[in-house]
Amino acid sequence: MKKEHITVSGLQVEVWWKAVKRINLVVYAADGRVRISVPFSTAMSRVKETIEARMLWIRAQQSMFRERKPTMQLHYIPGERHLFLGKQYPLYIAEGGRRHFVCFDQLAGITLHVRRKSSAQQRQNLLLKWYREQLTLRVSPLLEKWQPRIGKEVAEFRIKRMKTRWGTCNIRKQRIWLNLELIKKPERCLEYILVHEMVHLLEPGHTEKFYAHLDAFMPEWRDIDLLLKQE
Ligand SMILES: [Zn+2]
Repeated sequence: MKKEHITVSGLQVEVWWKAVKRINLVVYAADGRVRISVPFSTAMSRVKETIEARMLWIRAQQSMFRERKPTMQLHYIPGERHLFLGKQYPLYIAEGGRRHFVCFDQLAGITLHVRRKSSAQQRQNLLLKWYREQLTLRVSPLLEKWQPRIGKEVAEFRIKRMKTRWGTCNIRKQRIWLNLELIKKPERCLEYILVHEMVHLLEPGHTEKFYAHLDAFMPEWRDIDLLLKQE
């Protein structure tokens, strides 16, 4: 297997010559990176032509991952379906209590306990708060698991809603930011993004060394990246 980084019309592409029969081009959801796998016999000129020919598609994929489709307009009304860990659950509204809280049940779905005449905004705030708690709960055990394996400590993690990224890493402060939207994705996606960001503590850039680390720590990361692309 041979690997090379090239630039085609300003676009960085990773080229892999491998024992494959067909040319395969992929754009990764986590970072918009472009990789092309080609059979050993493929000439560089052919590689570049292929990339040029699919440039529009590549750019479209990248911008789709960057500006994720605005989520369907949500109204926070009974029966509406909401995502949690990769599955859709019906929303129930239980009004009249004194406190705002959320109950979740695999079968029954998500119940928002709210005061009477709650607004859509209040319901949304409650659900987002719960999402944040649920994501937070899942991050600490993952950090415990991965810090010794990667050999780096994360000083702090924070969660926010991000439009363009699933996660970011401030290497100097050893701080990782996670996108709140990850709570809507299958649980492995959170682990993948966290590991990706933690690997940046070993290797800041998306270099060959970076992906060698990622391959070693999480060989199945490409499959999980595909999950992230699904709506
Ligand atoms: Zn990265």
